[in-house]
Amino acid sequence: MKILHNGTVLTMDPANPVLEKGALLIEGDKISALGGEELLREHPQARCLDARGGLILPGMINTHMHMYSAFARGMGIPGYRPRSFTDILEGLWWRLDKLLTPRDNYYSAMVSGIEAIQNGTTTLIDHHASPNSAAGSLDELAQACSELGLRASLSYEVSDRDGPAVAAAGIAENTRFARWCEEEKSPRLAASFGLHAAFTLSDETLGACAKAARGQGFHVHTAEAQSDRDYSMERHGLPVVKRLDKFGLWGPRSLAIHCVHIDSEEMDILAQRDVSLVHNPESNMGNAVGRARVEAMVEKGLRLGLGSDGYTTDMFEGMKVANLLLKHGQGDPAAGGEVEALLANNIDIASRHFGRSIGRLAPGWQADAIILKYKPYTPLTGENWFYHLLMGVSGGMVATVLVDGRILMEDGQLLGVDREKVFAQARPQAERLWKRL
Ligand SMILES: [Zn+2]
Repeated sequence: MKILHNGTVLTMDPANPVLEKGALLIEGDKISALGGEELLREHPQARCLDARGGLILPGMINTHMHMYSAFARGMGIPGYRPRSFTDILEGLWWRLDKLLTPRDNYYSAMVSGIEAIQNGTTTLIDHHASPNSAAGSLDELAQACSELGLRASLSYEVSDRDGPAVAAAGIAENTRFARWCEEEKSPRLAASFGLHAAFTLSDETLGACAKAARGQGFHVHTAEAQSDRDYSMERHGLPVVKRLDKFGLWGPRSLAIHCVHIDSEEMDILAQRDVSLVHNPESNMGNAVGRARVEAMVEKGLRLGLGSDGYTTDMFEGMKVANLLLKHGQGDPAAGGEVEALLANNIDIASRHFGRSIGRLAPGWQADAIILKYKPYTPLTGENWFYHLLMGVSGGMVATVLVDGRILMEDGQLLGVDREKVFAQARPQAERLWKRL
């Protein structure tokens, strides 16, 4: 039994968003009560975690992540000067992913996972690629996430870009890992069926994926760049969402990532199929692929969440960028309110994905909670709490992190993992990868 107390609790529960001088009672892996200091008197045996007047929040959720991208940080490629999205894929990501070994996969996940915890992100929905070590790759990631205590959904990006044998290995990895999840019933691991993107998948491979999937829902980059849409129109006579719809890939557990270049009709199809969409503002800006029409998607009632596409594990940073991109993109300083919906939709997406209630501080929900050293110098109320998250908070303020009631970090100290040791082991691993490149 644990109690988080002496903080302002932001519950993410619309019925009761802010609890001043609040406290949270955790029993096992779930939250059992919300209240105030009386919880300490009622449960004197509980282990107390003092928020010292800071914020108590649910753990943050990243609905689109690539842990395998970790070793690209700081990497220079001689002569690399991308002029298009395709150049970025061919010049960077498809060179890097081919070189990843099982150990690289493991350490990429370890360092990404450690940073996620330190930034208060407790749930990751990951999309993995390592074409020359596809078999067993999701086990390496699962091993890292389990060691760290994170909640993660894993998938392997099937693609035809490296030939039929690698595509088949990707399909096999998705189905093998989904079966493992079914059998193990791990409380914190889940599977989706990864597909790289429509433009690297033939009709035959898409058909094979549809047949092989074990009901886990598809996780696919969707119309990220104009070139993806153009290719689909020229080659298949259909825009991306419609083409993938032909194979029955869209359903309530599927994730359509980016959707920068989809039209209103495609949005309607995604709405009808009850698909979740994920916006990745930093990535879209970094790859210069354009801006997703977040305002139209939210207006249509689409379940649009927020991911980072590997850019960061600090979801507070992602929220800020999403807000600025909405304002900048529309030339409207009053725009950006949709970001609150993205945050709420992440809760819905994660809860569907893991089949558990994740992302809210309320009785019966999973005990994924964080404490931030944030004491506002302006009033924080039930009306303006979101703007404090947007303008005042960052991942670096996270002090304490719990997942399923287990403490992963306390007062800035990671428990159960030696960050220095892991980073020291990861560095030569990254160095060797860079040399091979
Ligand atoms: Zn991605």
